[in-house]
Amino acid sequence: MRILFWLGLLVLVILAVRKKNRAVTADRSEPASAAAEAPAVESMVCCAHCLMHLPASEAVYRGQQAYCSNAHADLH
Ligand SMILES: [Zn+2]
Repeated sequence: MRILFWLGLLVLVILAVRKKNRAVTADRSEPASAAAEAPAVESMVCCAHCLMHLPASEAVYRGQQAYCSNAHADLH
């Protein structure tokens, strides 16, 4: 079972080295990983009760107001 661990580790190292070499030889544009790590741009809304900011897709809406949770929405 231990040999599988070392084999997996070896494959990971080889992949990492190959990726690194490719990044060095490739043009010096922005690394793809940086773009992948950046959060998707989404409009933020502010909870009308606690003023916490959260993504619009996760907000709870009551009329015109946005809230961070049902609990806060129910308080109004
Ligand atoms: Zn809130």
